[in-house]
Amino acid sequence: MEKVLDVENVSISFIQYTQGLNQRELKVITDLTLDVSEGEILAVLGSSGSGKSLLAHAIFGILPENANLNGKISYKGKELSQEDKEELRGKEIALIPQSVNFLDPLMKISDQAIGHIDSKEEKAEKKIKQREIFEHYNLGPDVDEMYPFQLSGGMARRVLVSTALLSDPKLVVADEPTPGLDEKTVEETLNHFRHMKEDGVGVLLITHDIHAALEVADRIGIFYSGYVIEIAKAEDFSGDGENLLHPYTKSLYK
Ligand code: ADP
Ligand code: MG
Repeated sequence: MEKVLDVENVSISFIQYTQGLNQRELKVITDLTLDVSEGEILAVLGSSGSGKSLLAHAIFGILPENANLNGKISYKGKELSQEDKEELRGKEIALIPQSVNFLDPLMKISDQAIGHIDSKEEKAEKKIKQREIFEHYNLGPDVDEMYPFQLSGGMARRVLVSTALLSDPKLVVADEPTPGLDEKTVEETLNHFRHMKEDGVGVLLITHDIHAALEVADRIGIFYSGYVIEIAKAEDFSGDGENLLHPYTKSLYK
């Protein structure tokens, strides 16, 4: 299976100003290496503030301007420049963002992903495809005319997932897709990832829910304090976590 993501020795840091002009480097991610193949789900777990969203944003080329990124991020074996990321973004590489705030609050749902397309024919084509995907994700025609603030939590999730899939991506980076959802909606969301996997899509699933990860992931990586402290097949994390070494990993099972 071809690799759709290679993250090699990636570090992300910020310069912080302390007392006047004194500077210090805040390292959020240190020397991170991981990969995702076609049809594989790699779940990455870590506590809040451990740099999970930064990793997602680094792959997508949307890091904040004051972030320093070192190391290599490749798609299908080719190292990505910032321009490449902008080219692939929203096409072969899709992000399911952590927050609904990624949707434009002043734009109707039906226009979010296709409003910017100039060509009338292309727009009409995409609109049909969007409706099909929306139907598949149980979003009826009413949703087209809604604005983001009118969506329920579950609907918003389904809009974010369907919008990401509109471009037939080969790599999907999902940033905490399940928190705050009821059990049924979590199960539904996890099913979406199972389907992506069946379609040969590689998924980097960022979550802090070990149970969700155990349900769908092929491999699991644990982030702690900027480092990946364990990465292994999902089976190795099953049970109650008793055989795991790191106290942080053990704590995830509570
Ligand atoms: P996670 O998604 O794992 O909760 P994030 O990737 O959002 O964590 O952020 C990790 C850390 O990076 C934050 O706790 C913060 O210290 C730092 N950080 C994020 N964005 C910035 C920024 N623009 N400037 C300075 N530090 C930042
Ligand atoms: Mg985050």
